Amino acid sequence: MTPALLAVTLCYVAVCAASPFGNCRKCNGWGFQMKTDRKGRQKRGKDCRRCKATGKRIRVGRWLYNRWARIYRSGTG
Ligand SMILES: [Zn+2]
Repeated sequence: MTPALLAVTLCYVAVCAASPFGNCRKCNGWGFQMKTDRKGRQKRGKDCRRCKATGKRIRVGRWLYNRWARIYRSGTG
């Protein structure tokens, strides 16, 4: 592993630890989707199904950590 890649990985781990949730990319963290009506006005659309209307998405790094932690705990008892 190159030092640069290691630094990026460490930064990513730090971000995951500091804020395990990121904004949902589909709804920009609003929890619902905006739609434009015929007059060009923005209206509140349906709840975002991707984030279940929370506006938050768990980061992949955090998800992996949770998974690893569960396996580790179940492995050692
Ligand atoms: Zn969403």
